[in-house]
Amino acid sequence: MNGNVNPQEIEKFSALASRWWDPNGPQRPLHELNPVRLAYIRRVRPLSNLRILDVGCGGGLLTEAMAAEGARATGIDLSEQLIDIARLHLLESGLQAEYRVVSAEALAAEQPGTFDAVTCMEMLEHVPDPQAIVQACFDVLKPGGSLFLSTINRTPAAFALAVVGAEYVARLLPKGTHDYRSFIKPSELASALRHTGFVLEDVSGLHYNPLTRTASVGSNTSVNYLMTARKPDV
Ligand code: SAH
Repeated sequence: MNGNVNPQEIEKFSALASRWWDPNGPQRPLHELNPVRLAYIRRVRPLSNLRILDVGCGGGLLTEAMAAEGARATGIDLSEQLIDIARLHLLESGLQAEYRVVSAEALAAEQPGTFDAVTCMEMLEHVPDPQAIVQACFDVLKPGGSLFLSTINRTPAAFALAVVGAEYVARLLPKGTHDYRSFIKPSELASALRHTGFVLEDVSGLHYNPLTRTASVGSNTSVNYLMTARKPDV
């Protein structure tokens, strides 16, 4: 595998494929974050008929939730196993979405300026060059299109919760799921967005309490956070 991808990351996520849709499995936090992030997107962009691209879609938790609200959703990921699982799950749900094993950069080169919105959730911290993903998201959007990102902040609180707490204490995530050095500060992501030409519209905290299994959007960005950005109209 060449390009802007860490093959070990892809292997790590591929190993979770068979249990991706198990709400009590290793991706439990993503299941519990899903309604909250969906509401965050919907507030800015009603999903009905929206042509939306989900970059690093995994097994399709968010892609399908958006399709269920009427979006014309495409999910892309570089894990073949996860794209297989995502396609299989459509048979169970009866929903429609397009899934492809293709990089964001390649899709952006193939279909520039064609999506109303792009989501890229919990993925940038697993990629060698996040700036190149942000650029691909920009290129694939129509003018006026919206980008929704979420990732993990590089703070002691994020290290304590996302690595030590979730992986070692609660055993919620498999050990090695996250590498602290790859976490991205909101200021760094904001600067990458501006550098690309995006207008930053919102930064919000994405809170998750593993004990109560509840998620919410709020002001504390010290662990996980969301951003909304817009590609300017021409
Ligand atoms: N966005 C999904 C899955 C998050 S897990 C959700 O929030 O529900 C991170 C995903 O990023 C995994 O599916 C992994 O295979 C994918 N990924 C990692 N590096 C990637 C890359 N360079 N290109 C595309 N997907 C990548």
